[in-house]
Amino acid sequence: MLKTIVHEADLCVIGGGIAGMFAAIAAARHGARVVLMHDRPVLGGNASSEIRMWVSGAGTRVRDLQETGLLEELMLENMYRNPRRNWSVWDALLYEKVRFEENIDLLLNCSCCDAKVRGGHIESVKGFQLTTYTWHEVHAAIFADCSGDSILAPLTGAEYRVGREAKAEYGEEFGLDEADPHTMGSSILIQCRETDHPVSYTPPAWAYDFPDDDAMHNKPHNLYAMNTNFYWIELGGLQNTIDDAETIRDELLKIAFGVWDHMKNHGDHGAENWELEWVGFLPGKRESRRYLGDYVLRQQDVENCTAFPDTVAYGGWQIDNHLPGGFYMDAKGSKGGAHLQKRRLSEPYPIPLRSLYSRNIDNLMFAGRNISATHVGISSTRVMGTCGVCGQAVGTAAAIAAKAGMLPRQAAQEKIGEIQDALLEDDCFLPGLRRKISPLAASAKLSCGYGDCSALLNGLDRRIWGCDNGYFGKTGKAVTYTFDEVTRVEGFRLVLDSDLNREFVEGNPDGLYSSSVLFFARSFNDTTFGFPKCLVKHYKIEAQDEKGEWTTVFEDNDNRQRFIKRALNISAKAVRFVPLSTYFSEARVEDYGSSVAHLFNFEVF
Ligand SMILES: Cc1cc2nc3c(=O)[nH]c(=O)nc-3n(C[C@H](O)[C@H](O)[C@H](O)COP(=O)(O)OP(=O)(O)OC[C@H]3O[C@@H](n4cnc5c(N)ncnc54)[C@H](O)[C@@H]3O)c2cc1C
Repeated sequence: MLKTIVHEADLCVIGGGIAGMFAAIAAARHGARVVLMHDRPVLGGNASSEIRMWVSGAGTRVRDLQETGLLEELMLENMYRNPRRNWSVWDALLYEKVRFEENIDLLLNCSCCDAKVRGGHIESVKGFQLTTYTWHEVHAAIFADCSGDSILAPLTGAEYRVGREAKAEYGEEFGLDEADPHTMGSSILIQCRETDHPVSYTPPAWAYDFPDDDAMHNKPHNLYAMNTNFYWIELGGLQNTIDDAETIRDELLKIAFGVWDHMKNHGDHGAENWELEWVGFLPGKRESRRYLGDYVLRQQDVENCTAFPDTVAYGGWQIDNHLPGGFYMDAKGSKGGAHLQKRRLSEPYPIPLRSLYSRNIDNLMFAGRNISATHVGISSTRVMGTCGVCGQAVGTAAAIAAKAGMLPRQAAQEKIGEIQDALLEDDCFLPGLRRKISPLAASAKLSCGYGDCSALLNGLDRRIWGCDNGYFGKTGKAVTYTFDEVTRVEGFRLVLDSDLNREFVEGNPDGLYSSSVLFFARSFNDTTFGFPKCLVKHYKIEAQDEKGEWTTVFEDNDNRQRFIKRALNISAKAVRFVPLSTYFSEARVEDYGSSVAHLFNFEVF
C-alpha cells in the first residue's frame, strides 16, 4: 500500500508554469497558505529548460507595456544573475522563487490526477509523486488550475471548450463559418551552437528526409539571417493535443532531426560550422482545454480594449493564431504564410476577473493558456507575460477571498476594489486604474532637491500614453516627506525606472532583446544580457528626529529591483530618499546622463 500525505491550504495551485508560480507566490505573499503541485522536476512550464520558450508579453510588441509586478522582479533578477542566459541558472532561479517563499508547500514531480467534488465544490485533489511513490491529498478553500491542460475540468465537471468557435457564437471576425475541434499545435524546439570548424551531421535513420525547401514547406531556417526559432516544428492541431500527445511527440522528433539534417546536408543554410546542441523531448503545448468562466474574452475585447469593472490583468501581444496544419502548411509569404493568422495590437486590453474563475465549480480559478477566452482570444493571451499577470491576479484574488471566507465569484463582486488596489500596490499595471496614494504620503509635505517631483504621487508608476509619470532627480539630491510633528512611519515604497522598453533597444551592445533566457542559436557574436543602466543601484532612506538630526534607517548599495516595499517602523519628523548611484554606462549617456536618477514613486506609509 502506498502512503498518502494530507495537506490543508487556503489555495492549492495545480501546475507550476509561469502562471501557476505567480498565482502561488502572490497568494503566499498575501498571507495565504499555499500548496503548489507540479508534475515536472523543474518549474516554468514552457519557459523551463525542458521546453525553452522565452517569456514574451504585451511589452514585447507595444512600447511601454512590459509587465511589472512579479514578472519584472523575476526578469531583473535573471538579467543580473544570468548574463549568459544559462538554462540551469534560470531553472534554479524559478525553483528558488517558489521553494524558499514562506507559505508555499511545493510538491514537485507530483501529477494531479484525482479530485473530490460535492455539489459543484471541490473538496480536495490528489496527486501522485513519482519520486517518492506517494499520494498527496490537498484540501483547500480555493483551487487554481494552472496546468495549461485544465486537468481539473475532466476531474470536477467544470465546463470547458476545445477548438475553434463559429462566427455566430461570439461574432468574431476570425471565427469560422462552422465551429471545429481543431487547435493550435504543439512544438519541440532545437538549439544549435556555432563552432570554429566544419561539423558533420548524420541524422537518425528514422528522421524525415527534407531534400529541398518545398519539402520544408518553406519554413524560415537560414542561419545567415538568424531568422527563425523553430516554433514552426508544430503539429497536433488536427489531432487532440492531450490524448495524442505521445504520437505527436514522435512525429515532431522525426521532423526536428530531419530539419537539422536538411540545414546541414541539403543546401547552404549557413550551418556548416554549427552543431546541434539540444532537441526538446517534451513538446510545448499552445492549446488544449479552455475553461468557461462568467465571462468569455473574445477577439473584439482584445482588439477594442473593452473596459471591465473587474479588470485584474491585461494583455497586448498580437493576435497570433497558429492554424492547425502546423509544419505542413506553407510558410511562403508575409507573417508566416498559410500557417499563421496575425494582427498587431497597439493598446493594452483589460482582462476581467470573471474570465479567471469557473462558471459552474464555485471554488475553481485558473490562469495560463486555459482561461475563459475564445480560441482567437487566447491566441493573444497565451503568451507567458500575460499568463503571469493573470496568475498574479488569481493568487491575489484567491488570498483576499480566502481571508474573507468568500468564493471567487462573491469576491469578484464584493472585493474587487480591494483586489485591484492590492495588485496596483504590488506594482501591477491595470489599464484605466490608478494606484491609491498612502494617506501618510498624501498628508505630508513633499519636496525635492532638484526639479518637480509631484508626479511621484500621481498613482501611475510607469511611462505610458506619452506621459513620463516619473521624476528625473539627481544622485545625491533627496526626495523628502516632512510631517507637521513626529510621526509613526511603518515603511516606504519605491518604484524605480528599470527601462521597460529595453526590449526595443536595437543594436544594444548588451543584447537586451529578451530578458528571459536563451535564443535558439548561440553564435560567436552572441551577447550577454545587459542590465538597465538607468536603475538606481545605491540609495539610502534617512529619517530626521525632532532635533533635526538625520540618520540612515535603510541603505541598499546593490539594488537590482524596480519595485521595493520595506518596513521601517520608526518615528520621525521627516523621511527622505537619497539616490546615490545608478548602473549607468557610457552606452546610454544620451538617454540618461550620468547623475540622473529616474523614479516613478517614492512614498511613505
Ligand atoms: C513552441 C511554442 C512557442 C511559444 N512561443 C512563446 C513565446 O515566444 N513567448 C511566450 O511568452 N509564449 C510562447 N508560447 C506560449 C506559451 O509558452 C504558453 O501559452 C504558456 O506556457 C502557457 O502557460 P501555462 O502556465 O498555462 O502553461 P505551461 O507553461 O504549460 O505550464 C503548465 C505546467 O503545468 C504542469 N501540469 C500539467 N498538468 C499537470 C498536472 N496534472 N499536475 C501537475 N502539474 C501539471 C505542466 O507540466 C506545465 O509545466 C509558445 C508556446 C509554444 C508551444
